[in-house]
Amino acid sequence: MKITEVRVIVTCPGRNYVCVKIMTDEGLYGVGDATLNGRELAVAAALQEHIAPLLIGRDPERIEDIWQSLFRGSYWRGGPIQMTAIAGVDMALWDIKGKQAGLPLYQLLGGKTREGALCYTHAGGRDAIEVEDNVRKSLERGFEVIRAQVAVPKAIGTYGTGGAAEAASASWAGATAEGVGDGGPMPYVEANWEPREYLKIVPKLFAHLRSTLGEDVELLHDVHERLNPIEAARLARELEPYHLFFLEDPLRPEHKESFRMVRNASTTPIAMGELFHTKYDCLPLFTEQLIDFIRCDLTHIGGVTEATKIAALAEPFQIKTAWHGPGDIAPMAHSANVHVDVSIPNFGIQEMVFFPDIVQEVLPGAPVYREGRLWPNEAPGLGCDINEEAAAKYPYQRNYLPVCRRADGAVHDW
Ligand SMILES: [Mg+2]
Repeated sequence: MKITEVRVIVTCPGRNYVCVKIMTDEGLYGVGDATLNGRELAVAAALQEHIAPLLIGRDPERIEDIWQSLFRGSYWRGGPIQMTAIAGVDMALWDIKGKQAGLPLYQLLGGKTREGALCYTHAGGRDAIEVEDNVRKSLERGFEVIRAQVAVPKAIGTYGTGGAAEAASASWAGATAEGVGDGGPMPYVEANWEPREYLKIVPKLFAHLRSTLGEDVELLHDVHERLNPIEAARLARELEPYHLFFLEDPLRPEHKESFRMVRNASTTPIAMGELFHTKYDCLPLFTEQLIDFIRCDLTHIGGVTEATKIAALAEPFQIKTAWHGPGDIAPMAHSANVHVDVSIPNFGIQEMVFFPDIVQEVLPGAPVYREGRLWPNEAPGLGCDINEEAAAKYPYQRNYLPVCRRADGAVHDW
């Protein structure tokens, strides 16, 4: 079999997606996700201008060899743009291999180790009462694990407070002097965010949720890489009585050694890694057992090939997976997540979103949610497709993630 064409399809059915479609001389094709929120066209150009010419005429069955040649063969390796481009190719090649075998991807990865993949949704709100209300709505939908985020007093437009709706669509509960939303043609500003206020409100939120909801619901919280080491250690310690499922991304991805401080301060389980790009980012946190969950984004680490290696590296250190699953990666990536989830031994949990109908029309085949779990598509390969005609109706729209600024106007990590 030979690769004859690499199509890069950029579409915006409510938000931007960069899709890869690899065609072969035997009529089989595969689809993958190469979406990097806010830098979509940079990845599309890397694919079209630099990677596609390398793939024409290659044997798509040689997934590992193609992966290695794209990662190491470029000399300049890693980084979000290159690893996202490689991910799109990698997913499409696994999709082709599954179609060739007539098997869903999880069968090629060793077969099922479990039935559905336990998943979590997002609940947010302006105050603890509204968060509680949204947690209860998620419980009614069958979720057993729920991420809880609350607005930070004085801050304008706190990340995550729109909950599941914010994660699934472009709508965002925030409002700022410069704009509203989770994106726009220029970045919106999440203003007046102060760690002091954040560190006060989050333990109060979980005290409220435990007192009203009890101990049966599993709760987690996303710091979104906003704290320094001593602040993160304090938060992990103060949240200890509320028994979180995990505390997510407490520190910036650059400061792996700082996880020792958080670890030594608390028994709150720690999840990390949605801004990582390779297995090498994960290694220091694995070998010292500084985290409990690794939550890389398959679309930003080079796809299924790297994800299965990261999961295998994590396994002997008793670290489980919690792959990133937001609305700004395409259904092909969510499908890849769940195929890996149900086939590896050390799966932990899967973040998920409900895609709007418009996305499902353009990019059909996302995993199905039922009773607190995600179920993989049983069709060969990823089980996803790209409706190119529908995709063409929704052209790319420039869109940025927000930026976060402190009360004095200084830039902070978003
Ligand atoms: Mg996160």
